[in-house]
Amino acid sequence: PDVVNKIAAGEVIERPASVVKELLENSIDAGATRIDIDLDAGGTELIRVVDDGCGIDPDDLALAFSQHATSKLTTADDLFQIRTMGFRGEALASISGVGQITLQSRTHTAASGCEVKCDGNGISDPRPWNGAPGTRMEVRHLFYNVPVRKKFLKSVATELGHVCETVTRLALAHPALHITLRHNNRLVYDIPGSAGLLDRIALFFTGEVRDALYEIDSGDGPMRLRGYIADPKCDRGNSKLQYLFVNGRWFRDRSLSHALQESYRGLLMAGRYTIGFLFLTLPPDKLDVNVHPTKSEVRFQENSLVYSLVRATIKQRLLKENL
Ligand code: ADP
Ligand code: MG
Repeated sequence: PDVVNKIAAGEVIERPASVVKELLENSIDAGATRIDIDLDAGGTELIRVVDDGCGIDPDDLALAFSQHATSKLTTADDLFQIRTMGFRGEALASISGVGQITLQSRTHTAASGCEVKCDGNGISDPRPWNGAPGTRMEVRHLFYNVPVRKKFLKSVATELGHVCETVTRLALAHPALHITLRHNNRLVYDIPGSAGLLDRIALFFTGEVRDALYEIDSGDGPMRLRGYIADPKCDRGNSKLQYLFVNGRWFRDRSLSHALQESYRGLLMAGRYTIGFLFLTLPPDKLDVNVHPTKSEVRFQENSLVYSLVRATIKQRLLKENL
């Protein structure tokens, strides 16, 4: 961890929500069914993520912090077949460049676990740790060594808002997960694992939205779109309730947001947004998620096909409702 790490870290770790996203993705990759998140001061003082996933073998603890060390890809070709949330092996290295990490982990078969601490000065010697199987990550004093970044953080409420949005996206993409979020010891979210997407969507929104949702499904095929869209009468003011996911990953995409919005042309009042939760699945090799370090943007091999699929599926569904 040195200057290089700090520079690299800047790209991935912008604010507490970026840390939460990376830690949650690691927990999900580890097969967690329950994740508990604790924050102090919007995450600037403390971010703690505890999962019941597979845990880390003591021999791999130090490796987890080294740049580009990932257990998730073994060959370069794997980059074209990404099935995990993480694959770049830089999150923990980046976080340890800008915060003080305590990592405690125990695999389900090991009699006891291990603890290491890592920050800008290096990694501590491992110590035995006897917690429950799974992984416990604490990140303290984010940007303690990068004052300019710390200065650019917004208010506690704003930073917490970003974390909530991150948690919402991951909760939508993984309906079976039980997630809790506490801020300054106060419970913000307790999202139990649910049977399906609709239950999960309903948790976040009021009954009226749920009743006004139409299920969409483009049907079997190498490329498939599923999810829910709302009746145009369902008015959320000018707030934008649009979530896009591809292969279980949230992403932003102007063109597809446009496709969603365009399908409602003539049905909405001016200035109003369509409500949509769209889940695309397509073969991993038709998709490049390695466009941006935060992986919030993707590139489709056949962009116009994806666009048409979204447009056509939604339009047909609206027609079915005589809209
Ligand atoms: P990546 O997720 O891209 O592999 P990270 O820097 O996020 O890289 O994590 C490095 C490695 O640490 C992972 O590949 C994984 O082996 C291990 N790891 C991190 N967090 C966890 C966790 N919560 N449970 C199990 N293993 C983890
Ligand atoms: Mg990761």
